[in-house]
Amino acid sequence: MNKKGLLLVFSGPSGVGKGTVLKEYLKAHPNTAFSVSATTRSPREGEVHGRHYFFLSHEEFQSLIEKKGFLEHAQFAGNHYGTPRKAVEESLEKGIDVVLEIEVQGALQVKNQNPDAVLVFVMPPSFEELHRRLAGRGTEDAATVERRLSNAAREMEAAKQYDYIIVNQTVEEAASQLEQIVCAAKHTAGYLNEFIEEVEDDAKTCCK
Ligand code: 5GP
Repeated sequence: MNKKGLLLVFSGPSGVGKGTVLKEYLKAHPNTAFSVSATTRSPREGEVHGRHYFFLSHEEFQSLIEKKGFLEHAQFAGNHYGTPRKAVEESLEKGIDVVLEIEVQGALQVKNQNPDAVLVFVMPPSFEELHRRLAGRGTEDAATVERRLSNAAREMEAAKQYDYIIVNQTVEEAASQLEQIVCAAKHTAGYLNEFIEEVEDDAKTCCK
Protein backbone atom coordinates (compact mmCIF):
# COMPACT_ATOMS: atom_id res chain seq x y z
CA MET A 1 0.00 0.00 0.00
CA ASN A 2 2.64 2.51 1.05
CA LYS A 3 5.43 2.50 -1.51
CA LYS A 4 8.04 3.82 0.93
CA GLY A 5 9.77 1.67 3.50
CA LEU A 6 9.62 2.29 7.24
CA LEU A 7 12.62 3.86 8.97
CA LEU A 8 13.12 2.15 12.32
CA VAL A 9 15.61 3.50 14.85
CA PHE A 10 16.70 1.14 17.59
CA SER A 11 18.62 2.27 20.71
CA GLY A 12 19.36 1.13 24.23
CA PRO A 13 22.18 1.08 26.73
CA SER A 14 25.21 -1.11 26.34
CA GLY A 15 24.50 -4.57 27.79
CA VAL A 16 20.73 -4.43 27.37
CA GLY A 17 20.82 -6.99 24.55
CA LYS A 18 19.51 -4.79 21.73
CA GLY A 19 21.81 -6.40 19.15
CA THR A 20 20.48 -9.87 20.00
CA VAL A 21 16.86 -8.70 19.81
CA LEU A 22 17.52 -7.10 16.45
CA LYS A 23 19.23 -10.23 15.13
CA GLU A 24 16.17 -12.29 16.10
CA TYR A 25 13.85 -9.78 14.41
CA LEU A 26 15.97 -9.63 11.21
CA LYS A 27 16.06 -13.44 11.02
CA ALA A 28 12.28 -13.43 10.75
CA HIS A 29 12.23 -10.36 8.42
CA PRO A 30 15.06 -10.90 5.96
CA ASN A 31 13.74 -8.19 3.62
CA THR A 32 14.46 -5.51 6.20
CA ALA A 33 17.76 -3.72 5.55
CA PHE A 34 20.19 -3.16 8.41
CA SER A 35 22.12 0.08 7.98
CA VAL A 36 25.90 -0.39 8.29
CA SER A 37 27.32 2.64 10.10
CA ALA A 38 30.62 4.39 9.65
CA THR A 39 32.91 4.89 12.63
CA THR A 40 36.34 6.23 13.50
CA ARG A 41 36.86 3.59 16.22
CA SER A 42 39.23 0.69 15.55
CA PRO A 43 37.73 -2.68 14.60
CA ARG A 44 37.28 -5.18 17.45
CA GLU A 45 38.37 -8.75 16.95
CA GLY A 46 36.18 -10.43 14.33
CA GLU A 47 34.65 -7.19 13.01
CA VAL A 48 34.68 -6.89 9.23
CA HIS A 49 34.84 -3.62 7.25
CA GLY A 50 31.59 -3.16 5.33
CA ARG A 51 29.67 -5.73 7.38
CA HIS A 52 29.85 -4.54 10.98
CA TYR A 53 31.00 -0.99 10.26
CA PHE A 54 32.78 1.07 7.65
CA PHE A 55 35.97 1.83 9.58
CA LEU A 56 37.09 5.31 8.49
CA SER A 57 39.93 7.64 9.38
CA HIS A 58 39.04 10.99 11.00
CA GLU A 59 39.77 12.70 7.67
CA GLU A 60 37.47 10.38 5.72
CA PHE A 61 34.72 10.81 8.31
CA GLN A 62 35.07 14.61 8.26
CA SER A 63 34.98 14.68 4.48
CA LEU A 64 31.71 12.69 4.48
CA ILE A 65 30.20 15.16 6.98
CA GLU A 66 31.11 18.04 4.65
CA LYS A 67 29.57 16.27 1.65
CA LYS A 68 26.33 15.78 3.66
CA GLY A 69 26.91 12.05 3.36
CA PHE A 70 25.43 11.25 6.78
CA LEU A 71 21.79 11.06 7.74
CA GLU A 72 23.00 11.69 11.30
CA HIS A 73 26.27 11.53 13.13
CA ALA A 74 27.39 11.76 16.76
CA GLN A 75 30.28 11.26 19.12
CA PHE A 76 30.12 8.39 21.59
CA ALA A 77 32.83 7.33 24.07
CA GLY A 78 35.44 9.37 22.20
CA ASN A 79 34.69 8.02 18.71
CA HIS A 80 32.58 9.29 15.82
CA TYR A 81 29.67 7.28 14.42
CA GLY A 82 27.43 8.08 11.47
CA THR A 83 24.71 6.62 9.27
CA PRO A 84 25.59 6.76 5.56
CA ARG A 85 22.69 8.59 3.95
CA LYS A 86 22.64 7.12 0.44
CA ALA A 87 22.00 3.44 1.23
CA VAL A 88 19.20 4.30 3.66
CA GLU A 89 17.41 6.66 1.28
CA GLU A 90 17.70 4.24 -1.65
CA SER A 91 16.20 1.36 0.35
CA LEU A 92 13.33 3.48 1.67
CA GLU A 93 12.53 4.69 -1.86
CA LYS A 94 12.36 1.06 -3.03
CA GLY A 95 9.86 0.29 -0.26
CA ILE A 96 12.36 -1.59 1.88
CA ASP A 97 12.23 -1.07 5.67
CA VAL A 98 15.53 0.07 7.18
CA VAL A 99 16.77 -0.40 10.75
CA LEU A 100 19.39 1.86 12.33
CA GLU A 101 21.01 0.68 15.56
CA ILE A 102 22.38 3.94 16.91
CA GLU A 103 22.83 5.91 20.12
CA VAL A 104 20.40 8.52 21.38
CA GLN A 105 21.84 11.81 20.03
CA GLY A 106 21.80 10.39 16.50
CA ALA A 107 18.32 8.93 16.96
CA LEU A 108 16.91 12.31 17.96
CA GLN A 109 18.58 13.96 14.94
CA VAL A 110 16.86 11.41 12.68
CA LYS A 111 13.46 12.10 14.29
CA ASN A 112 13.98 15.85 13.85
CA GLN A 113 14.63 15.54 10.14
CA ASN A 114 12.25 12.70 9.52
CA PRO A 115 9.21 12.75 11.83
CA ASP A 116 7.91 9.53 10.23
CA ALA A 117 10.85 7.56 11.63
CA VAL A 118 9.85 5.21 14.44
CA LEU A 119 12.11 5.37 17.50
CA VAL A 120 12.31 2.29 19.71
CA PHE A 121 14.29 2.21 22.96
CA VAL A 122 15.22 -1.03 24.69
CA MET A 123 15.25 -0.91 28.52
CA PRO A 124 16.49 -3.52 30.97
CA PRO A 125 13.88 -4.89 33.43
CA SER A 126 15.77 -2.95 36.15
CA PHE A 127 19.05 -1.13 36.63
CA GLU A 128 20.31 -3.97 38.86
CA GLU A 129 19.66 -6.42 36.04
CA LEU A 130 21.65 -4.25 33.61
CA HIS A 131 24.51 -4.20 36.12
CA ARG A 132 24.31 -7.99 36.42
CA ARG A 133 24.32 -8.44 32.62
CA LEU A 134 27.25 -6.08 32.08
CA ALA A 135 29.33 -7.55 34.91
CA GLY A 136 28.32 -11.09 33.88
CA ARG A 137 29.78 -10.71 30.41
CA GLY A 138 33.17 -10.98 32.10
CA THR A 139 34.78 -9.18 29.16
CA GLU A 140 35.32 -5.84 30.91
CA ASP A 141 37.09 -4.76 34.09
CA ALA A 142 35.20 -3.14 36.99
CA ALA A 143 36.07 0.42 35.89
CA THR A 144 34.70 -0.22 32.38
CA VAL A 145 31.50 -1.71 33.80
CA GLU A 146 31.10 1.39 36.00
CA ARG A 147 31.66 3.71 33.03
CA ARG A 148 29.13 1.80 30.92
CA LEU A 149 26.58 1.93 33.74
CA SER A 150 26.89 5.68 34.09
CA ASN A 151 26.62 6.02 30.28
CA ALA A 152 23.53 3.79 30.44
CA ALA A 153 21.90 5.99 33.08
CA ARG A 154 22.48 9.03 30.84
CA GLU A 155 21.15 7.25 27.74
CA MET A 156 18.02 6.13 29.56
CA GLU A 157 17.14 9.75 30.31
CA ALA A 158 16.44 10.10 26.58
CA ALA A 159 14.03 7.15 26.54
CA LYS A 160 11.04 9.43 27.19
CA GLN A 161 11.59 11.08 23.81
CA TYR A 162 11.25 7.78 21.95
CA ASP A 163 8.01 6.53 20.40
CA TYR A 164 8.09 3.04 21.93
CA ILE A 165 9.84 1.27 24.80
CA ILE A 166 10.62 -2.43 24.85
CA VAL A 167 11.58 -4.01 28.17
CA ASN A 168 13.96 -6.82 27.33
CA GLN A 169 12.84 -9.68 29.59
CA THR A 170 13.51 -12.38 27.01
CA VAL A 171 14.84 -12.08 23.47
CA GLU A 172 11.83 -13.86 21.92
CA GLU A 173 9.33 -11.63 23.71
CA ALA A 174 11.23 -8.45 22.85
CA ALA A 175 11.56 -9.43 19.15
CA SER A 176 7.85 -10.20 19.03
CA GLN A 177 7.05 -6.80 20.57
CA LEU A 178 9.24 -5.15 17.94
CA GLU A 179 7.25 -6.96 15.27
CA GLN A 180 4.01 -5.61 16.74
CA ILE A 181 5.43 -2.08 16.88
CA VAL A 182 6.41 -2.24 13.19
CA CYS A 183 2.94 -3.53 12.36
CA ALA A 184 1.28 -0.68 14.31
CA ALA A 185 3.60 1.90 12.73
CA LYS A 186 2.58 0.70 9.28
CA HIS A 187 -1.07 1.30 10.08
CA THR A 188 -0.88 4.92 11.15
CA ALA A 189 -2.72 7.42 8.98
CA GLY A 190 0.58 9.27 8.51
CA TYR A 191 2.35 6.24 7.10
CA LEU A 192 -0.60 5.37 4.83
CA ASN A 193 -1.18 8.96 3.74
CA GLU A 194 -0.20 8.31 0.12
CA PHE A 195 -2.56 5.33 -0.08
CA ILE A 196 -5.45 7.32 1.46
CA GLU A 197 -4.91 10.06 -1.13
CA GLU A 198 -4.90 7.53 -3.98
CA VAL A 199 -8.24 6.14 -2.83
CA GLU A 200 -9.58 9.69 -2.44
CA ASP A 201 -8.54 10.45 -6.04
CA ASP A 202 -10.21 7.24 -7.22
CA ALA A 203 -13.37 8.24 -5.41
CA LYS A 204 -13.52 11.43 -7.49
CA THR A 205 -13.50 9.57 -10.81
CA CYS A 206 -15.05 6.21 -10.02
CA CYS A 207 -18.66 5.14 -10.20
CA LYS A 208 -20.03 8.27 -11.86
P1 5GP B 1 30.09 0.20 19.56
O1 5GP B 1 31.35 0.97 19.47
O2 5GP B 1 29.95 -0.54 20.87
O3 5GP B 1 29.86 -0.67 18.35
O4 5GP B 1 28.87 1.26 19.53
C1 5GP B 1 28.80 2.28 20.47
C2 5GP B 1 27.46 3.00 20.32
O5 5GP B 1 27.40 3.67 19.06
C3 5GP B 1 26.24 2.07 20.36
O6 5GP B 1 25.26 2.67 21.19
C4 5GP B 1 25.77 2.04 18.93
O7 5GP B 1 24.37 1.82 18.84
C5 5GP B 1 26.13 3.44 18.48
N1 5GP B 1 26.21 3.59 17.02
C6 5GP B 1 26.58 2.66 16.11
N2 5GP B 1 26.49 3.16 14.87
C7 5GP B 1 26.03 4.43 15.00
C8 5GP B 1 25.70 5.48 14.06
O8 5GP B 1 25.78 5.35 12.85
N3 5GP B 1 25.27 6.65 14.58
C9 5GP B 1 25.13 6.86 15.93
N4 5GP B 1 24.67 8.05 16.30
N5 5GP B 1 25.43 5.91 16.82
C10 5GP B 1 25.87 4.71 16.37
